Amino acid sequence: NKQVILNNYVSGFPKESDMSMASNTIELKVPEDDSNAVLLKNLYLSCDPYMRPRMQKLEGSYVESFKPGSPISGYGVGKVLDSAHEGFKKGDLVWGFTGWEEYSLVTTPQSLFKIQHTDVPLSYYTGILGMPGMTAYAGFYEVCYPKAGEYVFVSAASGAVGQLVGQFAKLLGCYVVGSAGSKDKVDFLKNKFGFDDAFNYKEEEDLNAALKRYFPEGIDIYFENVGGKMLDAVLLNMRLRGRIAVCGMISQYNLDKPEGVCNVMNLIFKRIRMEGFLVSDYYHLYPKYLEMIIPYIKEGKVVYVEDTAEGLENAPAALVGLFSGQNFGKQVVAVSRE
Ligand code: NDP
Repeated sequence: NKQVILNNYVSGFPKESDMSMASNTIELKVPEDDSNAVLLKNLYLSCDPYMRPRMQKLEGSYVESFKPGSPISGYGVGKVLDSAHEGFKKGDLVWGFTGWEEYSLVTTPQSLFKIQHTDVPLSYYTGILGMPGMTAYAGFYEVCYPKAGEYVFVSAASGAVGQLVGQFAKLLGCYVVGSAGSKDKVDFLKNKFGFDDAFNYKEEEDLNAALKRYFPEGIDIYFENVGGKMLDAVLLNMRLRGRIAVCGMISQYNLDKPEGVCNVMNLIFKRIRMEGFLVSDYYHLYPKYLEMIIPYIKEGKVVYVEDTAEGLENAPAALVGLFSGQNFGKQVVAVSRE
């Protein structure tokens, strides 16, 4: 059973060499004394930014640190090979928490969702039909209170979450601009995902001036994925009673000390509501989300771009690539296709 191990706690930017390949032997059936365990063959693994904080020693966080010397874990899609839990049987396809390895014995099957719709790509359950999809849905509809005609700005807009937020906002009739880190990503935002406009934040010396150019009348909704300088510039460009959904701050995850944000007083002047959220508080809405999104996918009203690394060996590079923007769309690792 090949595995991806965290060598040691990480500081600064994560590197491929922070992880190594190992293997153990695993019996391909659930132990008799565990009435809960589900044995999975992992098919797809999801690379997600929140995995970086888990690579360091965390205290009082909403997630646990990975254990140096042990396999890392995250969201994935798997096939049930054996199950002692009554909710799952051999052959079921599931998504949820699993290990970065070929086979995983999952002892917390309450964190697994049974896959009902199999006429869509299975890898979508790491993205549009999994945690990032629910994040975009909950963050946009439940936190932003969006209305047709509003001005929406999305950062890290071509990623797993951002590409969906932009499309949801367009479907509602908003004006949507996204930022991303390369020309190709910007082209995709405009031509593939239907954003009204987009810009490469790396080419803008003055983010405040850039936002003024794209939003001469200001921003009603900011879907925050990056933090730092971008947040500071957005705060200067928000409209009266604007809303900021704080989904993530990827620009801060590798810093020893987070950057200061200077312009928070605008929250007062403009009566802005800035709200952080965690997708884990919203999984009760998953069935409702599926009802909305499955038809959208089938009718081509929402598209989804994935970037797939082939093989578990390539998983560490794919994961660290998130922090330099190497991923073009949702970063997936295909461990096995059947
Ligand atoms: P993405 O697929 O967007 O991948 C990360 C992207 O972030 C990279 O491709 C890169 O794109 C961009 N990026 C990396 N470093 C920086 C930087 N220093 N400054 C600006 N952009 C950077 O990731 P996800 O869509 O999965 O996640 C997006 C955000 O949502 C993250 O902050 C994540 O932590 C958060 N999140 C929060 C959840 C919650 O429950 N609150 C759940 C899921 C995700 P580019 O080339 O454009 O720079």
